Amino acid sequence: MIPIAEIFYSIQGEGKTIGSPALFLRLAGCDVNCIWCDTKEVWMKGKAFKKEEIIQKVKELSDKNIHLIITGGEPLIFNEFLNELCKEVIEHFRIIEIETSATRKPFGFIAKNKRIFYNTSPKLKNSKVPREKRINKQAIEFFLNSKRAIFKFVIENEEDVIEAIEDFIKPFNIPHELVYLMPQSKNRKEFIERSLIVVEFCKKYKFNFSPRLQLVIWDMATGV
Ligand code: SF4
Repeated sequence: MIPIAEIFYSIQGEGKTIGSPALFLRLAGCDVNCIWCDTKEVWMKGKAFKKEEIIQKVKELSDKNIHLIITGGEPLIFNEFLNELCKEVIEHFRIIEIETSATRKPFGFIAKNKRIFYNTSPKLKNSKVPREKRINKQAIEFFLNSKRAIFKFVIENEEDVIEAIEDFIKPFNIPHELVYLMPQSKNRKEFIERSLIVVEFCKKYKFNFSPRLQLVIWDMATGV
């Protein structure tokens, strides 16, 4: 049995593939515990389903012109299930994206398949997660070497940008083109206010800016 919080059709709201039509599968559960987690309320309400039922449902809702986005929580807690699911459904979608905190290194089918991409979001001090939990060297190196990952940092202020550079971008040699800065925000108002600051950091340090379209369009609503 695997806990699922929600499954819904929408558009990708963040990162490199922003705007793409996508089926979202949100798995419930995470062991990272970021203080500002904006999805906890949703994934805490997850219900357990049989693996076969989930795979069947995803197939029913599939379309070769849309992405499948597997999110959470931390989906890589369920790596073995993701291997089964992705093997079964990969041909039914344009691509698969897996959203992860980059605290775990994937293994098996999802680690190798070239049509599976990773939207990683490594955590900074502002998450209040202990450093040894946040920075998993092997995992970060895997994502970087896979050539199928982007690195999205949630930013509150310039200190966060400097920390991302010092703790991740410089030591792992992450190319700027793979780095996205995204404003830390829980609602539309916060997002707009902080975007004005974060966009200036993107210009100054030459990183990509990632909007949060779901906040711009739907504010705090989820599953839309
Ligand atoms: S890793 Fe993601 S899901 Fe887990 S606590 Fe942090 S923000 Fe929430």
